Amino acid sequence: MTDAVLKVALPLPLPRLFDYLPANAAAANAGDIGRRVRVAFGNRQLCGVVAAIGAADAAHADALKPVEWLEPEPLFAGELLASLRWLARYLHAPLGEVLATALPAALRRGEPLPDTHAWGWCLTEAGATALPAMRAGRPRELAQSLASGSRDEDVLDALQPGWRTAMRTLRERGLVERVALASAFSSPLVGEDAPQGQERGNPDSPSPGAARHPLPQRGEGKNGFELNKEQQTAADAIRTAEGFTAFLLDGVTGSGKTEVYLDAISDCLARGKQALVLVPEIGLTPQLLARFRARLGVPVHALHSGLNDSERATTWTAAWRGEARVIVGTRSAVFTPLPDAGLIVVDEEHDASYKQQDGIRYHARDFALVRARELGVPIVLGSATPSLESLHNAQSGRFTHLRLHQRAGEAQPPVVRVLDVRKRPLQAGLSNELLNAIRAALDAGGQVLVFKNRRGYAPALLCHDCGWSAQCRRCDRPMTVHAHGRRLQCHHCGFRQPAPPACPDCASLALQPQGSGTERIEELLAEKFADVPVVRIDRGNTRRRDALQKHFEELGARPGILVGTQMLAKGHDLPNLTLVGVVGIDEGLFSADFRASEKLAQLLVQVAGRAGRAERAGTVLLQTHHPEHPLLQTLIAGGYHAFATAELALREAAGFPPFAHLALLRAEAQHAEPPLQFLAAAKELFLLPATRREGARRADEGATRPNPHPNPSPGGRGADNVELHGPLPAPMPRRGGWHRSQLLLSSPGRRTLHAALDAAIPQLYELPEARKLRWSLDVDPVDL
Ligand code: ADP
Ligand code: ZN
Ligand code: ZN
Repeated sequence: MTDAVLKVALPLPLPRLFDYLPANAAAANAGDIGRRVRVAFGNRQLCGVVAAIGAADAAHADALKPVEWLEPEPLFAGELLASLRWLARYLHAPLGEVLATALPAALRRGEPLPDTHAWGWCLTEAGATALPAMRAGRPRELAQSLASGSRDEDVLDALQPGWRTAMRTLRERGLVERVALASAFSSPLVGEDAPQGQERGNPDSPSPGAARHPLPQRGEGKNGFELNKEQQTAADAIRTAEGFTAFLLDGVTGSGKTEVYLDAISDCLARGKQALVLVPEIGLTPQLLARFRARLGVPVHALHSGLNDSERATTWTAAWRGEARVIVGTRSAVFTPLPDAGLIVVDEEHDASYKQQDGIRYHARDFALVRARELGVPIVLGSATPSLESLHNAQSGRFTHLRLHQRAGEAQPPVVRVLDVRKRPLQAGLSNELLNAIRAALDAGGQVLVFKNRRGYAPALLCHDCGWSAQCRRCDRPMTVHAHGRRLQCHHCGFRQPAPPACPDCASLALQPQGSGTERIEELLAEKFADVPVVRIDRGNTRRRDALQKHFEELGARPGILVGTQMLAKGHDLPNLTLVGVVGIDEGLFSADFRASEKLAQLLVQVAGRAGRAERAGTVLLQTHHPEHPLLQTLIAGGYHAFATAELALREAAGFPPFAHLALLRAEAQHAEPPLQFLAAAKELFLLPATRREGARRADEGATRPNPHPNPSPGGRGADNVELHGPLPAPMPRRGGWHRSQLLLSSPGRRTLHAALDAAIPQLYELPEARKLRWSLDVDPVDL
């Protein structure tokens, strides 16, 4: 292997690895796989990861450059590397881009691994000798406090505020030195919520994977209640699982799923293992973290978009070193290294925020399943409204189905009523009946939630005289009216402009906002119910992570009204919420998207679930012009599961997921034609019989890979089983000035689909038509 070189995966949109030499003319070595390197690429410096060792590509063998190693050991090894290789193959994406996506931004840029240990101070030999003769004063006091051993900086902050000046004096005289203590992450209750005072660790610097783990306290008892029977059954099933087992924890809202997770995590910690918990973006509230911290008795590390790069890199590294034992994070936390993995939990597994919608389009829930299998650990997917994919997997026995039918504690399920508003007068979209119910609920001391999945003041601005309406020039879609009619904003590309004072076409002043969004509803409610606070919650005013919490705190426990979008469906526990009004859902009943019904049903059930979480009974009023619609009828009469059963039957009959597998090839350009030309050329490649057969062979060889939803579909192996739809304009043919088209591939067999992709995708990079545009492949797309 004298001529073996490093095959480096670089974050470039090219389906190949790049050859480099080891640094200092050393021999390439299998132990280098997974190591981070910096390399010269053209006139740029790029960071990459060694993906393989092999013979140099003959074409460039004489001009190879050496790498610069970023650290001595591989960042990616074992399970994580294997799972990421699987992901790259599954998404038909370049390995370098997948590995870059899996790294926190700071490490992706090549910054060194951050310190994850705490710092402390101790006396040097000179200090110990000098101490008895030192003059009285601050430095002596401080030196005295170090006489019995090193002190943690946090402890010094707590016990001897202002210690730094005195310490500097001591250090200048060579009497003390700063030392790395054991991990800040590994000790019970240190860090953000730590009581001060205990010494921790010894000054040995931690080595990867060799951290101590804390002894967790058993969770039960702290809140004073025991698991109920169904919770206990679920908890026992998870505790006794051996190796990889996928559980679907299917429990109505408020049934105590979180308690079951906490039990499983406690057990995982007691076995000395790490636990990873994924939550949707809006599910990761300070309330949830506080609950986890209080119950688990160990530091709980949050990973979410509100952290800065260095915080994210520190937590990632602490997990990689085995120091962080419980990691709770949103989508990208699925890439957290878990050298001592014991459990993975995915809360609200149906949530759309688990799917990455650009770049590497992974699905965090599905990738979590792949990792759990590769790690050989149990995984718990929890939801009150499981995705049809997961229900299908539970029904076919691939997942163990655990059910919690009742709300925990005293809480009762809410009563749901449909309000037929045909021919009724509406104000800002609200009927008198709903307004009266709001008055009654407030008078009884309760809180009210009005849900409308449309932010802004009104969805459109129309000229009453000539029919002109305000359209985004870059998206060809109506602009949303904001700021009580003063501003227009495109919700697709973000473009903003002031509302015109008069109609640009006919100069009429009769411009009217059409329909109503959350702002307009807020305006009406504030006017009608001036005696109580009206708090609006939507993405327009709740971008920052702590804003949601602040809004809830603003309302407090007194009677009042919340108005908002689906951000309200999850988050904060509102014990005084007794009425939920749902308005403006009719559009969702007739959407062309085959997932629209599922999304609407989930949203309705989740929003309804906010009512009556405590002792006070809850009511849900559903306003609609289509009271007889089967979706509403089924949901109200039979609940989510009746809906899901009916919907799965429709999907099966129509050949949609989970009974078919989809991949969507998207293309966009500044002009309309190139995307259609590129997709037409791509379609030719998919139709080429020879490549298809070649691809099918390759898929058979790779048949042992783990698969999130293995689908042994009968007769689905034939090369003719991939259907191609398109090229067609995308549902939004223009967005932000880009012309967009797509080609949909569908097959009853997952393998057949992937064989076709394996054969054709590498060739897409070579197409001359590919040069003039941006294209991307979305495997298992959620938005078509
Ligand atoms: P979910 O995650 O299913 O929505 P939670 O775990 O948040 O439900 O529980 C809902 C509420 O019920 C919480 O206030 C929780 O403290 C309470 N709770 C959970 N389990 C029990 C139990 N066994 N006995 C009494 N109260 C419980
Ligand atoms: Zn006009
Ligand atoms: Zn726009």
